Amino acid sequence: MAGESLPEDALALVERQAERWADPRTQQRAQEQVRLAAQRARASEPRVGGLLKQLEKAPRIQHRIFWLRQLAEVFGESVGPHSACSAGCDACCRQPVVLTQQEAEVIARETGAPLHQPATWSAKGDERYVAQPCSFLEDSRCTIYEHRPMVCRLMFSMDVDDLLCHRVPGALSHMPYADYSQHKELYLRAHLGKVKSEEALQAGLQQLKLADIREFFPQGAGRR
Ligand code: SF4
Repeated sequence: MAGESLPEDALALVERQAERWADPRTQQRAQEQVRLAAQRARASEPRVGGLLKQLEKAPRIQHRIFWLRQLAEVFGESVGPHSACSAGCDACCRQPVVLTQQEAEVIARETGAPLHQPATWSAKGDERYVAQPCSFLEDSRCTIYEHRPMVCRLMFSMDVDDLLCHRVPGALSHMPYADYSQHKELYLRAHLGKVKSEEALQAGLQQLKLADIREFFPQGAGRR
């Protein structure tokens, strides 16, 4: 729980969030939505199998990112209808957004956005960016929607609305996200291509360079 130093409105929000999270119906509802999403996902299994084969065959990271995006789309088709997420909500765009150097380079090539060298590398969400708008967010819209990072394609709240999505700096956050860990693993592995051993895989993963989107693109699309 956040300290008493929070402004009154932020404290009220944190309290409402804590109440929601402590309510057993929140978890039950989320589990039910996940169950329905899993049911829907079963129909997509053959398509997913085909996309995984394409991913495996893809020779370069930019090609693999293309197939990862297709896989994320299938995930969104299953999970989205059972989530609290809706067009016009930008709560996720005001949270840390982590991507790799290689994905940032792909986005820079596709969008023409000026790419910077991050001052801070971080594989975990950088807490400085909690409640800070993404540099690509304008009027609650993503200006690079077709090219947005993988993480933006995979985060879905399985709650009933966006109450828990609005993080308060310094306060604990609770969110019944749809589990996207398999996609995250595919994403990270895709950067390494074919590796000979588990050891080589782990060593490669350790060397991946990740940072927040605001570090790579402090000017956003650079059109301002
Ligand atoms: S890239 Fe787009 S979708 Fe992702 S956080 Fe930024 S504005 Fe939101």
